[in-house]
Amino acid sequence: MHSVILSAGKSCFVACPGCYNHFGATVSATADVLAFAAGLRNRFGLERITVGGGDPLTRPDILVLLTGLHTLGLRIHLDTVGTAFLGPARIRFMGKGVAEHVSADRVAEVADLIGIPLDGSTDRIQQQFRRHASVSAQQEILTLLDTVGASVCINTVVHSGNLDDLAQIASLLAGHPSIREWQLFQFMPIGPLGHRNRERFLVTETDFHRAIMTIHQEMLGRIRVVAKSAAERKHRYLLIDSAGLVWTPDQSPAPPWQTEDSNDRRHLIGNITDRDILDRLADQQTREPV
Ligand code: SF4
Repeated sequence: MHSVILSAGKSCFVACPGCYNHFGATVSATADVLAFAAGLRNRFGLERITVGGGDPLTRPDILVLLTGLHTLGLRIHLDTVGTAFLGPARIRFMGKGVAEHVSADRVAEVADLIGIPLDGSTDRIQQQFRRHASVSAQQEILTLLDTVGASVCINTVVHSGNLDDLAQIASLLAGHPSIREWQLFQFMPIGPLGHRNRERFLVTETDFHRAIMTIHQEMLGRIRVVAKSAAERKHRYLLIDSAGLVWTPDQSPAPPWQTEDSNDRRHLIGNITDRDILDRLADQQTREPV
């Protein structure tokens, strides 16, 4: 089974010019999302789900959704900028208004791993990609997660603007006991924004791996480093947008990353409420086993 990424919200606290996502215009009913997740578990043996952006904390009933997924027995990896853990938070992208405060304690009770982005050691570097998220705010969120017993994963998009900053980012992580893992992703030039702004962020696979070599485990102690190139992530993801559309990125069949894989297209499989959606996924898996 692909890695399943569920967009829980339809908007974000930050506006990443390299965003890979296709945002839905609405938020599908929580009962429908849970029924679909149960179907994936029962039919395909799904054990883990990533609940990601549009930021999950912008979804008013995020705790209900997470509790429901937890009750299904799924391992939950929650990817969030984390802004609403600190208090009511302004929505800046694909929507407006203020998201209510979300209790970090209650999220930590049901999420097995909470992914927090950090893309630079200074605001100048960090905000090239994660616009509006300051380094000090991300540090404050990590300190809060330290106190509630969360298990945290740091997510870093490695791009042309932060290639030389990874060792400095590493130095910010060691002081947080909640951090278990540091995932580094080679920038993937997909989605409407990621494709449009690709020239600003593109980095070759060779340069990506060279940058990873500047990280030394002694800087990080027990924190596990996981590096994922764009090629390694090709054909790995099944995504569900906030409106319930099930999709995969439109990518060429060959395993290495190809120039044509950089595009803003997506392959739509259906909607989570379609009666035959699981059959369509089974058919897709037959043609494209992962
Ligand atoms: S990359 Fe993630 S955090 Fe950034 S705008 Fe897109 S969904 Fe939001």
